Amino acid sequence: MPDTLRTDLDQPALTQAMLRHLRSSLGKDPEHATTYDWRMSLALSLRDLVVEPWFASTRRTYDAKGKRVYYLSMEFLIGRLIEDVAINLGVEHIAAAALAELGQDYDRIVADEPDAALGNGGLGRLAACFLDSLSTIGIPAYGYGIRYEHGLFEQHFEDGAQVETAEKWLAQRHAWEFERPEVSISIHFGGYVSQCGEKSVWHSDETVLAQAYDTPIAGWQGKWANTLRLWAAKPVKLFDLESFNRGDYIGASRPEALARTISRVLYPDDTTDTGKELRLKQEYFFTAASIQDLMRRFLAEGFEIDSLPDHVAIQLNDTHPAIAGPELVRILADEHALPMARAIEVARKTLAYTNHTLLPEALERWPEGLFARILPRHHRIIEIIQDAHFAAAGTKVTIIEHGQVKMGELAFVMAHKVNGVSALHSELVKETVFHDLHTAYPDRIINQTNGITPRRWLYSCNPALRALIDDTIGQGWAADLERLSELRSSVEDAAFREAYRAAKRSNKERLAEWLKARDRITVNPDAMFDTQIKRIHEYKRQLMNILETIALWNDIRDDPNGDWTPRVKIFGGKAAPGYVMAKSIIHLINDVAKMLNADPTTRDLLQVVYPENYNVSMAELLIPASDLSEQISTAGKEASGTGNMKLSLNGSPTIGTLDGANVEIRDHVGVENFFLFGLTARDVTKRRSVPGFARAAIEASPRLARVLGQIADGTFSGGDSDRYAALLHNVWDHDYFLVTCDFDSYFNTQREVDGVYRDPEAWTRMAALNTAGMGWFSSDRTIRGYASDIWNVRPLVV
Ligand SMILES: *Cc1c(COP(=O)(O)O)cnc(C)c1O
Repeated sequence: MPDTLRTDLDQPALTQAMLRHLRSSLGKDPEHATTYDWRMSLALSLRDLVVEPWFASTRRTYDAKGKRVYYLSMEFLIGRLIEDVAINLGVEHIAAAALAELGQDYDRIVADEPDAALGNGGLGRLAACFLDSLSTIGIPAYGYGIRYEHGLFEQHFEDGAQVETAEKWLAQRHAWEFERPEVSISIHFGGYVSQCGEKSVWHSDETVLAQAYDTPIAGWQGKWANTLRLWAAKPVKLFDLESFNRGDYIGASRPEALARTISRVLYPDDTTDTGKELRLKQEYFFTAASIQDLMRRFLAEGFEIDSLPDHVAIQLNDTHPAIAGPELVRILADEHALPMARAIEVARKTLAYTNHTLLPEALERWPEGLFARILPRHHRIIEIIQDAHFAAAGTKVTIIEHGQVKMGELAFVMAHKVNGVSALHSELVKETVFHDLHTAYPDRIINQTNGITPRRWLYSCNPALRALIDDTIGQGWAADLERLSELRSSVEDAAFREAYRAAKRSNKERLAEWLKARDRITVNPDAMFDTQIKRIHEYKRQLMNILETIALWNDIRDDPNGDWTPRVKIFGGKAAPGYVMAKSIIHLINDVAKMLNADPTTRDLLQVVYPENYNVSMAELLIPASDLSEQISTAGKEASGTGNMKLSLNGSPTIGTLDGANVEIRDHVGVENFFLFGLTARDVTKRRSVPGFARAAIEASPRLARVLGQIADGTFSGGDSDRYAALLHNVWDHDYFLVTCDFDSYFNTQREVDGVYRDPEAWTRMAALNTAGMGWFSSDRTIRGYASDIWNVRPLVV
């Protein structure tokens, strides 16, 4: 049995519960039940187990008058929940046995659940890991977000090009949520502000309802459960009967369609400012609903209004909910008659902001005209906040400038703490985007390096390694991940290394079977699985990886009998639909895959696979099976990364640059267990200022020049020499992300990787020391840091 067990549930009881749900919740006779029916009956039965700890946690928080944390995030990239809940409650084996008794296969039922993909990538996945850790540690908390009808788009490849289709997780009933029609909050837009003596009154001209849907989030061993509350937009007036009676059937549904648009889709791009009115409305919609909701809860406990920061901590995950600052000020000043200066101070003590990026195009700015039209009262409050900030800090840094409202500056000024997400990134935040604000408020910026939940990203997704760790250091490490360091003493034990290799091997076979079954792709589990899985972005440099792949292919073809180390290059990831360059990179990877995988002289030595539709569930399959982790972003551009942590934890040494959390990973696993290459963040800035640096680098590297020539002459595009013209032009004449400058260093380091991989004992030592060194990167550690350095909250379980 695994670290058990907070429930007295046994297998017969779970079987009975499932049969009961099958009848009473799904209206099905077991004889006619489909996979969906069984999956729902299992999920509903597991949900029943969470309800008691959930109620108990709420009671406990009220009794203790505990401070609550509110984590506001536009994205929660959750994935599936059945296995997650079963494992946290310690009933995984019982669930498998109960299903077996009912003639059902646990793995098939688990795999039938659609991913809850309410996020784009790392930022949304971080929010999901934080929910798990908040509940595991026992901190009273709510996650607040949007219940998108359509999550992140599904990715397909047509002739190698990415095509998007709408995601439809809510086409079926979502088993985990409780609908709360009684929690419907009015959200206002537009109109004008009038002055009534001292008082400002906002007369809006549009109202929608935010309706709550609650998902209980149980932590490890079910000792505590928090709430993820997602808001769906609903119309105030469901249906216009007058129009209908006139025969205008479409017009009759128009108010409903307009209102629902707000929570219809996840914006598929978290790194560029879309400038869309709908996006601004989405941000205000969920932020305002969340603030009203938490204020109602706070006031119901009878506390003094200006004691808000003693009872409430609000964390803003990036600037998307930065409107929380002016919204909170509006409520405190306009609705509770706090003097404006006091309202600003109380709001600031309550709010904190996490910065996730230095990319200038990703720092949200709204055209002032649009902003003032949709949120006229907030526009005025931001001007007041700006004046107060000028007066207090004696600084020239503006929030509104050149007809734009700058959300990063707003979030900074309205937060008592601003944190970056890795040590390097937090330093760069001080030096670059918020340099002047940092000078004005030198104590405000701190660092909280990201983490990942070890329950999902090792315990659940890698049962083979879990079992070996249990056998080696005993149980209990899943909620105390630093204990993995106890593995270090076993690394010199040949039997341990043998077992570690066997675990990796079985994960690679599992992946090979899945690729065969889903995509009819055959891969050789003896080859090195070299993995780059993440959103496709120029700064992440998938381009450099595929260029290196072509260069290696050339070398193998030049010397087919050389001593090569067989590799499978695995890519996974989606490009934002409007991101032309990223889509061109995807097309190139697929073109190269097609060519190389068909080459009889090289295909046993070098293969490229790019399975469609990378998501959390695919990550859970790929990560345990990976040998090498590609973390090759241009130094200074990846704020932290969390994929780097998942891979290293599961025994993939990193080939990477000194960027984001790579720096700290390298320190923790040991510099000798990390393949470092490339320019540093400072080198990058310097090199960029050298005129013609890209051209010079290409001319100095015959290997790179040859590869670029092949792409240009249509070698990979069936003779079409136009397909990659724009991409190549960018490499030769622009290359903002310095692919050309790091190419040789990357190529040579890959050959070093080849050398170590050829020695299985040396490689296994390295992989195992990665696992042993990664304990610090648990999101439990990150959340403890936020709790003590930002929120000033203490757990309510011991
Ligand atoms: C962890 C994760 C990410 C983040 O990956 P990075 O390599 O840190 O960019 C993105 N998408 C999914 C599905 C993930 O699980």
